Formats: sequence, C-alpha cells, structure tokens
Amino acid sequence: MDIQIIEMADRKAKFILKDSSPAMANALRRTLLSDIPKMAIDTVEFYTGKIEGDDGKEYESITPLFEEIIAHRLGMLPVPTDLDLFVPQSECECGGEGCPNCTIMYSLQKTGPATVLSSDLQPLGGPNSDKLRIVDEFIPIVELTADQGITVYAKAVMGTAKKHVKWQVCNGVGYKYMPVIEIDPKHASDDAVVACAELCPAGLEVKNKKLVVKDPVACGYAKGCLEKLDETEGVTVNWDDTNFLFKYETDGSLTAQQALDIAVDILSKEAKGFADDIKVL
Ligand SMILES: [Zn+2]
Repeated sequence: MDIQIIEMADRKAKFILKDSSPAMANALRRTLLSDIPKMAIDTVEFYTGKIEGDDGKEYESITPLFEEIIAHRLGMLPVPTDLDLFVPQSECECGGEGCPNCTIMYSLQKTGPATVLSSDLQPLGGPNSDKLRIVDEFIPIVELTADQGITVYAKAVMGTAKKHVKWQVCNGVGYKYMPVIEIDPKHASDDAVVACAELCPAGLEVKNKKLVVKDPVACGYAKGCLEKLDETEGVTVNWDDTNFLFKYETDGSLTAQQALDIAVDILSKEAKGFADDIKVL
C-alpha cells in the first residue's frame, strides 16, 4: 500500500491510495472522519449581570439568541490544536480537573451594536496564548443590538468526532475508484473520437494517431465519451478496486497533512493491536 499525493494544501488534500483494497480505503475514510483528536469548546459560562462597556455605559446581558445556541456555535469553532502540547482530560495528570495541558480557556466580552465574531474570543494564559486564537477570524456568533452585551468564559478540551461532531477535524471525506479507460487505437482518426475528446473532463487527446487520457483522475464516470463513441467500437470505462482517489478538507484546527499522518498512525496501531490480540487467542 502506498499514498501518492496529488494536492496537499493547508486545509485540503487529494491523493491516490495505491495497491490497497475497498476495506482499507473505507477504514481510512472512517478514521479521517471520526478518530482524529482535536480541541473544541466544551463548556461555556455566561455572565448574567449588568456589563460595563469600555465607554463606561451599562449594558444588559441579553442577546437575540438563546444561550444554548450561542454555546453550540462556540463549540463548532475551529480551535487550533497542537497534539504535542495537549492531552485528553481523561489522560491528564490533573485527573480531569482541567489544567494548561488539557484545557484552553477563552474569554469573550462585547457590547452592542455589533456582531460578535470568532476573533472576539481571547485565549487566556501565558505569552504564547495568541497561538490559541480561533483559526478563522470572521465566523459570526451572534448579533447584538444597542444596550445589549455578552460576557462569556469558555473551556476547550480534546475529543474525537465519535462523541460529537464539534471534534471532527476532516470534512467532505470521500473517495472514488480510479478509472480505467481503455481505447482502441484503430478509432483514433475518427471524427467521433475527436468529438468524444472534447466532451471528456479527463482530457482525451489524439497523439500520434492514438487517443490518450491526459488526466484519469478527472474522470467522473459520466461516460459522456461513450455516448459519442459506442463502447463496442473501442472505448471502455471501468474502475480499479485497488487504487482510490481520496479527497478531504479540514476545519483548520489541524493541517491536511497532520490529519493524514495521524490517521495513518492510528490505523497502523489498531492493526498491530488487532494482530497482537489474535496471537493471544
Ligand atoms: Zn489537565
């Protein structure tokens, strides 16, 4: 089994899983979706008294949204996650009480009229706390009208999407079998072949009187080519169940490369653990 990277951007990846099987491809998909740990806001405390603004004016602790909805929106924010710095609370030396190794504290205070944004959350604790600011600055949380204010303290802890989607690092995780496009060269000079090449998203081209697929990855199995050129006359589109084209994005809490490295590591440890269990049995 091997992985050939086609695109590896900060939050987006495309690669070919080579010499593998449908079972392994699906195991990797599920691991990317559910098993990668990340930090996310899990507890939110709302201050309910009068709030004094920077202008010295008093504001009511009221917003147009229920507190549960605001807490949910805060939970879904992408918290930057350094897996070398943080551990899950259940494995922390503090015994789960909360400490700088397992918990990130945020505060948020804003008065209206204004839109409360993700960038209004201030990480608390230490000179390096700026690295813990929410990854995307402009995610709207709630809109405050005049005389309204909000003061909130929030705690982020580590978890996985097996428990709640707020701990899901990767989204849009999917794969397709790599296409196998076979073309009989005897049709290469035919007008129909040229028309077929214009239709094909994989970019067919005639080279030395031979029809060549420029980018098999782009094939969407729409088989528009076959409508122009009868399958029996020389073109067949099939798929290969040992090579898979994978795509996914991350929410920014981890990079796409980190997510892939961790997923492969988790799968490898699980496979080894399973093999060890079998030996014992
Ligand atoms: Zn701790």
